[in-house]
Amino acid sequence: MLLFCRRDQTPADRDALLTAARAAGFHPQPMGDRIIGLFGAGRVDELSGLAGVERIAESDGTPLLATLNGHEPTIVPVGAARVGEGFTVIAGPCAVEDRQRVLDLAHRVKDAGATILRGGAFKPRTSPYSFRGLGRTGLEYLRAAGDATGLPVVTEVMDTRDVPLVAEHADMLQIGSRNMMNYSLLVEAGRAGRPVFLKRGMSATLDELLHAAEYLLLEGVPGVVLCERGIRTFSTEMRNTLDVSVVPLLRERTHLPLIVDPSHATGSSRFVPAMARAAAAAGAIGIMVEVHDDPGVALSDGPQALHPDTLRDLIRQLREISAIVNRTPAPPAT
Ligand code: PEP
Ligand code: MN
Repeated sequence: MLLFCRRDQTPADRDALLTAARAAGFHPQPMGDRIIGLFGAGRVDELSGLAGVERIAESDGTPLLATLNGHEPTIVPVGAARVGEGFTVIAGPCAVEDRQRVLDLAHRVKDAGATILRGGAFKPRTSPYSFRGLGRTGLEYLRAAGDATGLPVVTEVMDTRDVPLVAEHADMLQIGSRNMMNYSLLVEAGRAGRPVFLKRGMSATLDELLHAAEYLLLEGVPGVVLCERGIRTFSTEMRNTLDVSVVPLLRERTHLPLIVDPSHATGSSRFVPAMARAAAAAGAIGIMVEVHDDPGVALSDGPQALHPDTLRDLIRQLREISAIVNRTPAPPAT
């Protein structure tokens, strides 16, 4: 059972409700500001008339805030950008490597038509011997590159302890594939006052993805952008398998905008443009793509990085494809 509190409930109402719920035989558990979970076999009739109660309802297990429910598609402001309006391109290096390089790349992706700058400062790496990012210094370089170009920036946060630091430097927090189910991190990130870019876990179902988004929304996050970045399948030819069919499927299930990441989906710059075009053709509202001016020397994910010149041509194509896909059908000829 879920008890929905009124918007105008006072802290005293809330404390009294928790006490009354225990006395009525429940194990109450606050969920965000306005919901109290009622667990166990208690007596609902003792609670329904109390101050601060809006309603009490059985939960059917579906996310309440992330699902469509007649909601218009959400537009998420990220700095000066608006994700969900037009075609969004988030581009930049896998990792922030040094001040000058990320600054140059920021200018080049902006010239190519990107609208948001990406770059990892805290890098989740499979091997602890790989480059793990510059940490705080990387955040400072990324922020400086964003400020110099006017591009909002997104970067990953891996640890609850780093949420305030990353939120101070970034316009949007990224929760990576490996952490989509790190529920403590979702709660902290949801409270940080920044929109969150939530990547689908590499073995996560859509239901699990939407429930992860629900954790953020329950904490009052100012916006959630979902990202399909490829999933683990039996196919080992590519780094992952791009699950492009989720683009139309998620549109039916959630109001949250969905971005596709063809870089981590394929692991190879040869296939990134084709998969980006497939995403746009399926109706994605944007892509996240890794870019490097010299992929051969990149400190992480060089093989999947596009050159900025390739990005320019690709963005032009994607905007054309997206315009065709989103064109309202012409009225029938009379
Ligand atoms: C990334 O975007 O930098 C990243 C690590 O991606 P993922 O979490 O999808 O592997
Ligand atoms: Mn990467």
